[in-house]
Amino acid sequence: MVKNQTTLTFYGGVNEIGGNKILLTDKKTKIFLDFGQSFSFGAKFFTSWLQPRSINGLEDYFELNLLPKIGGLYSKETLASTDLSYAEPEISCVFLSHAHFDHIEHIGFLDPQISVCLGVGTKLFLESMEETGYFANYGEHLCNKFRTGHKIKVDGITVEPIAVDHSIPAAYGFIIHTSEGTVVYTGDLRRHGPRKDLTENFIEEAKSAKPTALICEGTRMATHESRQNYSEEQVRQISQDIISKTDKTVFAMHASRDIDRFNSFYNVAKKTNRKLVITPKTAYLLSKLLADDHLPVPNPLKDDCLKIYFKKKRSGKYDEKDYFPWERKFLGKMVDCNYVHKNGRKLIMDLDFFQFAELIDIKPEEGSHLIHSMSEPFSEEDIGEQVMHN
Ligand SMILES: [Zn+2]
Repeated sequence: MVKNQTTLTFYGGVNEIGGNKILLTDKKTKIFLDFGQSFSFGAKFFTSWLQPRSINGLEDYFELNLLPKIGGLYSKETLASTDLSYAEPEISCVFLSHAHFDHIEHIGFLDPQISVCLGVGTKLFLESMEETGYFANYGEHLCNKFRTGHKIKVDGITVEPIAVDHSIPAAYGFIIHTSEGTVVYTGDLRRHGPRKDLTENFIEEAKSAKPTALICEGTRMATHESRQNYSEEQVRQISQDIISKTDKTVFAMHASRDIDRFNSFYNVAKKTNRKLVITPKTAYLLSKLLADDHLPVPNPLKDDCLKIYFKKKRSGKYDEKDYFPWERKFLGKMVDCNYVHKNGRKLIMDLDFFQFAELIDIKPEEGSHLIHSMSEPFSEEDIGEQVMHN
């Protein structure tokens, strides 16, 4: 047998949180598992508005050693001002485990001829982020959409995606059959979520595949766990306890693409006879996810329990022309700051940290509640928490 005909090379995700870029080579076939950006990415050189210049493609990234110089991987356009010359793709495809930025963020640099394999739901998340985000640009790729049960052949490699439970839907782990044995890549997964059965199923499948290698993140590995883990059901129950006992406005902060958390607050709103006020961005994401019948979400245009908060823009008069075209279809379900001020006791309102200034217009009654339903900050320099309390 030829030595090392199957190799794994880690270009990110080692000694850092996220940024997974794992190259699997089997004989002449090369695939990447995820292509994300770590949470501390570029922190030595960039901060706030000082960022790599997008006009320079990969030049700034290469100069500062932030991305690996690999031939046959990147697009002609992004290599134009670098000293790495363009070569036809040597990588067959990139498999994305889920739509969190630490797993996908850098796919915009890839040669468009390299196909991107991703879950049906993950594709919807990417589209929604590109269509409603100011900065998201994932580039044009041939997309190969999968679900659990598919077997994707790349030359001699066969990849089996299997859904796992994570804080974003459509998350997958991979069982990868190579010429030298089976490699399991877990992606991100959890065992305390509402679909823990998916994770358990993946573990069983992975175990019976008798892997030679297992790739798993250890973000929350500790010899002594001092933090408390709440299941989604506990979060829902605690929120319901708080909300059912108050006649004041309740604001809720949570990760915007965590659909399980959205559903928890949605269900609590129903149980407590309140309406849930969401942002146009969340409304757009929900309307997009309706296309995947594996992801049960309410229709923001039809659901009685949902209202959509519009803030003042441009003219300051809630004129249709003030809003992006993608926002306009939700104007029929619009509520504004005056509505929330007057009807607060019948509402739960999603409030993103960066929208806190809206509180100046909403003027919530003293004693109103804010449920901070987020994970702890990833960096110790995070000053947001102090700002939030102030
Ligand atoms: Zn994740």
